[in-house]
Amino acid sequence: MKPAINPNKIVVFTGAGISVSSGLEAFRNSGLRTVGLHEQLASPHAWNRRRKEVIEYYNWRRECAGKAQPTLAHLAIARLEQKYEVVVITQNVDDLHERAGSRDVIHLHGELRKVRCCGQHALVSDIGISPQHLGDTCPDGHELRPHVVWFGEQVMQYSEAGRHFKTAAKVLVIGTSLQVDPAAKLPKKGRYRAEKLIVNPHFDVADRPYSYRIIHKEADCIVPDIVAAWLDGQRW
Ligand SMILES: [Zn+2]
Repeated sequence: MKPAINPNKIVVFTGAGISVSSGLEAFRNSGLRTVGLHEQLASPHAWNRRRKEVIEYYNWRRECAGKAQPTLAHLAIARLEQKYEVVVITQNVDDLHERAGSRDVIHLHGELRKVRCCGQHALVSDIGISPQHLGDTCPDGHELRPHVVWFGEQVMQYSEAGRHFKTAAKVLVIGTSLQVDPAAKLPKKGRYRAEKLIVNPHFDVADRPYSYRIIHKEADCIVPDIVAAWLDGQRW
């Protein structure tokens, strides 16, 4: 049997497109970094062979994310909590949702501001915007690694994210192409009766999950309007 829909629950699912106006890309592009660096360094293989470079790469990305600012769309999403139970599920590793005020955020691909120990207890700790140093350890002496998902690794909290989709009365998907699994499968778990929107100026309608409406606009232009309508008790 399917779980009951919670009429007061909203799931917001976000990807890189929500951060266009945050400055994140501008900071990243100003660094004269090698094209393809992410593909070279975001893997367990690189961690074993080029550990110092991997740590420096994530230190740099953490620094860029720290300089970026939440967008109008991030801020609008946080306002939904005035009236609704909101779960934000994001593919982004920055903390812009948290800094905008969202309190319940699932990071499918991990978080730049956290590291975890490579020991069995996989203790996660928040280092804020500080750099990680080669050889840093947890209190038990296990080496620390960035708390992010690398190529070939499982996304985090996928089942939990799926359960939230199944019980939401409204689903708002922002700034993701839905072309990469397993994240692309999540919106399909949204219920037929739920109000479901996708905001993405470049979204290919061929990839549209069943019964979603597509809005081909930038997040900052339209998400505040959608949020205002929902806070007013209207469908958008
Ligand atoms: Zn440990």
